[in-house]
Amino acid sequence: MALRLENKNALITGGASGIGRATAIRFAEEGANVFVADRHFAAAEETAAAVKKLGRSSTAYQVDTSDEAQVNAMVAQMVKEFGSVNIVVAAAGISHAHYGEEGQPDVAFLSNKSFANWRKVLSVNLDGVFLTDRACADAMIKAGNGGRIINIASAAARIPLPGAGEYSVSKAGVWMLTRVLATELAPFNITANAIGPGFIKTPMTAELQQMPDLSPLMQRVPMNRMGEPVDVANTALFLAGEDGRYYTGSILHPDGGIVMQ
Ligand code: NAP
Repeated sequence: MALRLENKNALITGGASGIGRATAIRFAEEGANVFVADRHFAAAEETAAAVKKLGRSSTAYQVDTSDEAQVNAMVAQMVKEFGSVNIVVAAAGISHAHYGEEGQPDVAFLSNKSFANWRKVLSVNLDGVFLTDRACADAMIKAGNGGRIINIASAAARIPLPGAGEYSVSKAGVWMLTRVLATELAPFNITANAIGPGFIKTPMTAELQQMPDLSPLMQRVPMNRMGEPVDVANTALFLAGEDGRYYTGSILHPDGGIVMQ
């Protein structure tokens, strides 16, 4: 049976962990070469090793996706090494300003949110996706072979999260960014879609997963369980492959039914 992404070159940001890593491996299983970008180089190398074990090419690359020069250099490096960017999955993201650091998450209503913390989340989750998409779209247009842009938003793009308003706003921004890009890039045969996951078992939800009783949270999930990273990876695979070719400007929700409620 033909592989669904045979010889495609995919850039995955946030590829060192969680959804990004699962997507890198799922894409490699379907024949893609994967450029694994993340701020954690050692962990990105682990993902790249898993991709290579599947017989595909892979490079680990250290980047801060909120830094314009670093993002441009990342995409230039991928084009130099792989020859093209056919698919990009922008998965690098943070749930609050101090994500990845020791200490408590910043949970505060917007009336009390520091501007620095607001800016931090917007700079990674929205600026970072814009910068990544922009550099990839430019490379795709220049190559003239179309392309697929897949942005990891969240169910929070539609559902306001009290205490994490900046996260919800960043993800709603990603969804609108995706739709604007879909409109502007359609003439170049480049599709742009978003994925809005619900609660997925990754390091980002580690604290939730450790709660002794998940049932109050699961009341919001008709399927009554968290999703796996591969559930999101399979959604990205659909959008990246031939089966998803007529989708653009959509947001798909692997979320166990949260958003429909
Ligand atoms: P994850 O396991 O923490 O993976 C995110 C990766 O992105 C981490 O390796 C993280 O590094 C990296 N990263 C963060 N900021 C970066 C930056 N500025 N430049 C480069 N890399 C950066 O979390 P995940 O759950 O897979 O999240 C992936 C995406 O899915 C995020 O956009 C998240 O908002 C979204 N999402 C997740 C869920 C969920 O339930 N897990 C639900 C909806 C949406 P650090 O570890 O150093 O931060």
